[in-house]
Amino acid sequence: MAETKPAARAAGSCPICGRPSTEHYRPFCSRRCADVDLSRWLRGTYAIADTDEDDAAGKAPPREPEPE
Ligand SMILES: [Zn+2]
Repeated sequence: MAETKPAARAAGSCPICGRPSTEHYRPFCSRRCADVDLSRWLRGTYAIADTDEDDAAGKAPPREPEPE
């Protein structure tokens, strides 16, 4: 496969989030980012993986109305 990634992997930064990569998950910084990249390959297109943080903000359960 011909990858067109910037010649910056030598620097050791995660191609997903840009954080410093770790030896165990390089060139990624964590297993999560490695999984995200894998998902891209499997789907062929960019797919939103697990965004728990953002998802929680959009699907937060409605607050119960306070008694007046
Ligand atoms: Zn990362």
